[in-house]
Amino acid sequence: MKHSEARRLVRQLLPKWQKCLRLRDWRIEVEFLDDTVTHRTEREEFYGYTTVDPKRMEAKIELATKRPPEAVEDVLVHELVHVVLGELVCVVPGEDSTVKALEERAVLRITEALVGRKRVK
Ligand SMILES: [Zn+2]
Repeated sequence: MKHSEARRLVRQLLPKWQKCLRLRDWRIEVEFLDDTVTHRTEREEFYGYTTVDPKRMEAKIELATKRPPEAVEDVLVHELVHVVLGELVCVVPGEDSTVKALEERAVLRITEALVGRKRVK
């Protein structure tokens, strides 16, 4: 998918999901990743990455666009759930990998419930 198509989708979907997740007061910036390279954590390829600043109510979401259009919504909602949980995760002391793993598991479950389907592969 071209970045222009992804941008059009995000423009439709972001307000809808910000409203749904009560994130309308947040300033959420979406950037698109370079799809000519694979983006990975130590363990796996990822399609979205979010940095959250709860004090300023700001977040930056970086999205990959190389999967089908319906996957954009999955990734966007997934990353917005990270924003919702960001406040909580930020008050947990230290960079505990257990906290990160639990956060990820919660985000996956909540996203699945919200979009009403298993993750689009
Ligand atoms: Zn995640």
